[in-house]
Amino acid sequence: AIDFKWIRDHRDAVATNIKNRNSSANLDLVLELYAKMLDTQKEVEQLRGERNAVANKMKGKLEPSERQKLVEEGKNLKEGLMTLEEDLVKLTDELQQEAQFIPNMTHPDVPIGDEDSSVIRKMVGSPREFSFPVKDHVQLGKELDLFDFDAAAEVSGSKFYYLKNEAVLLEMALINWTLSEVVKRGFTLLTTPEIVRSSVVEKCGFQPRGTNTQVYSIKDSDQCLIGTAEIPVGGIHMDSILPNSSLPHKYAAFSHCFRTEAGAAGAATRGLYRVHQFSKVELFVLCRPEESNAYHEELITIEEDLFSSLGLHFKTLDMASGDLGAPAYRKFDVEAWMPGLGRYGEISSASNCTDYQSRRLGIRYRPVDPASLNNNSPKKGKSNAGPTQFVHTLNATACAIPRMIVCILENYQQEDGSVAIPAPLRPFMGGLEVIAPRP
Ligand code: AMP
Repeated sequence: AIDFKWIRDHRDAVATNIKNRNSSANLDLVLELYAKMLDTQKEVEQLRGERNAVANKMKGKLEPSERQKLVEEGKNLKEGLMTLEEDLVKLTDELQQEAQFIPNMTHPDVPIGDEDSSVIRKMVGSPREFSFPVKDHVQLGKELDLFDFDAAAEVSGSKFYYLKNEAVLLEMALINWTLSEVVKRGFTLLTTPEIVRSSVVEKCGFQPRGTNTQVYSIKDSDQCLIGTAEIPVGGIHMDSILPNSSLPHKYAAFSHCFRTEAGAAGAATRGLYRVHQFSKVELFVLCRPEESNAYHEELITIEEDLFSSLGLHFKTLDMASGDLGAPAYRKFDVEAWMPGLGRYGEISSASNCTDYQSRRLGIRYRPVDPASLNNNSPKKGKSNAGPTQFVHTLNATACAIPRMIVCILENYQQEDGSVAIPAPLRPFMGGLEVIAPRP
């Protein structure tokens, strides 16, 4: 339920927002389609009224000639109504399609501009100084026999990989350690379907179609592979009204993620940095609207705590308006220092999507629980249950495995060619402290 009336009534603010966010949304077209849809709806209602009036007249006693006239009139009205109803369905589809591109509004503190305008919120640690030549993760992985990119290229294609030996244990340890940490912070653990309906992908604000889509679609079906667990978790409560007392819902979901990486040509692609398939633990919160800014802060704090515990050097950014995508109202990215790459690389992202996804997914709550209402009220049942509102949704990366492996290998490499395991992960790797070259 996109609020077209609100968009129409705030036309200038929406137009400025579209511009600030580098969005290709066509506001004029959306408003034109909306106006046409309202007119058509009115006409449909009018014709329905006329048709009912004719039907009522026919219930009375009538001369055969009069009846014949009414039959003709009724037939014409029915045909006209059918055509108009078809037009209405088409217009509504077209409107929904165009409205997909209209981005969420933007938090007033978000820096306006493109990626370079993003502002550093926090800096943790400093780049490690090395007394020996630094290797990148691809080199380290080769020497320690941790990956096989060549076989993956043969079997699957470029940007795929096999993890081998301790790298497999490292992936499992990162996942299990992250899950154990977020469970302590009150998150409900999930694993999710990794194939979902395209409609759910769309409702979460991703584009499953088009030449530049990030989404793998399954041929001859209406299903896609997920690019992130945000999609199946977003869908878990779709088309429902959550009890006020059940909020917030805090989920931590493990899934594999599949991305076409269309349009990523020229971007950092070496080794594990940008791949088509990876594992991730994603946090997802559904909450009352007035609480979403606070949960956004909570999510970024959890991410920062996790990355600090692993001893990484990183900065947190308040992302600029031009880099927010459509669903986010505000987004905080974390970029960690990758010594082999010689630069910071994005390792996580935390977004407050306010009601952008919940409107499309139909996730509401009732601010006043029916149980707390006066039961002696003459109105019983639904009408007594109080109005509903859309919840707010937030998502945040707790641990995206490949870039964490890049960070750990490159930051924890030692002069003898081995890699130390960060202390928190050791209990999850059978006490292993070091990945050493095989004899
Ligand atoms: P996003 O859902 O796009 O915000 O991505 C969340 C995190 O997943 C990023 O911060 C990266 O750590 C990781 N990530 C995204 N795309 C890729 C990819 N193609 N290969 C490896 N890691 C990725």
